[in-house]
Amino acid sequence: MDLNRHDFQLEELVEKIRTGDHRLVALQLPEGLKIQALEMIDTLESETDAKVIIAADPCYGACDLVHHKMQMMRVDLVAHMGHSQMNIDSGMETQFINVTYDGDPELAPVIPFLEEHRTVAQEKLAESQGPIEIGEDEAKGRFLDAVGRIAPLTDAKLGLVGSIQHLHLLPDFKKRLEEVGFEVVIPTGGKRLTFPGQVLGCNYSGDDDSIGHYLFLGSGDFHPHGLVLHTGKPLATLDPYTGDAGEMSLEKIERILRQRFGLIIASDKAESFGILIGEKPGQMRRGVALRLKRLLEKHGKKGYLLALEHVGPELIDFYPVDAFVNTACPRIAIDDSTRYAKPLLTPFELEVVLGEKQWEEGYHFDEIP
Ligand code: SF4
Repeated sequence: MDLNRHDFQLEELVEKIRTGDHRLVALQLPEGLKIQALEMIDTLESETDAKVIIAADPCYGACDLVHHKMQMMRVDLVAHMGHSQMNIDSGMETQFINVTYDGDPELAPVIPFLEEHRTVAQEKLAESQGPIEIGEDEAKGRFLDAVGRIAPLTDAKLGLVGSIQHLHLLPDFKKRLEEVGFEVVIPTGGKRLTFPGQVLGCNYSGDDDSIGHYLFLGSGDFHPHGLVLHTGKPLATLDPYTGDAGEMSLEKIERILRQRFGLIIASDKAESFGILIGEKPGQMRRGVALRLKRLLEKHGKKGYLLALEHVGPELIDFYPVDAFVNTACPRIAIDDSTRYAKPLLTPFELEVVLGEKQWEEGYHFDEIP
């Protein structure tokens, strides 16, 4: 990745600081961009009268906005970079700063994946015309069918999505894909998502029954894992940083589902649970946590509420409970569960443990709306 090809779009922020006469600004950046933070501070401090503090704690999303601690330092503006506004109020004036990357990868390498996936989607669409019935034992054996089985397809269109720094490429890619014969939709999601085609690790709400397969513009497995776990649909990837094309392998998704099922089985006899509540403004699901506590009580089990800003094994493993259920960032349970000594479940998985939901009715990816 060539960091110099990122456009940080600081002009609007400079203007905002000048017109608002802001004196102390907190700059919050994702981990990958922090290396360039000092350069940005130099620019901002030379072009305005403000002093700038880096909010140096880890930051993985707009769910994690700087809040009351910086207010106590009398920070009067938060500049949050590289993520977009979501449906939360941190209580502080916040300016979101777009970061875009100017990579423009060739389409050709990804076409074979898309053609193969379109065929899979068309077959699924044909199957969707009939009733989908599958027994409990069969469902447990067919892990890949555990996702995306809830709603039958109504079409087999290509859904075009991307991570935030590549979203500006989507309209042009839509045209290019249509020119080579694909029916393309750029999905629009719910209130947590700002832009068409945007996906978050905890929200893929743009998915609908007319989309049969996906192309993701971005890098890494984080979004491909989430999108396929959420939808069960084939997904091709094109990385604007490298030009590499690929697909999310179904073996990887099956491995994750087997692991989730294993944790559900391992929690079957658990009598006491730690219920994690995230303190970050966009991760705080107090209502879900309290509902799970009541549900555990209904089943004669104990639930202890634990509130944390950051979730990590060193902060929870020692509590004498049998298992944990996480209501903070949904990806902690999915992506990090092997780091924990005890089972770490999602809310849906706890409901399966308690017999309130059935695995064979389809895996529910934990989504924050
Ligand atoms: Fe990302 Fe997790 Fe925050 Fe969602 S809750 S935006 S997945 S860090």
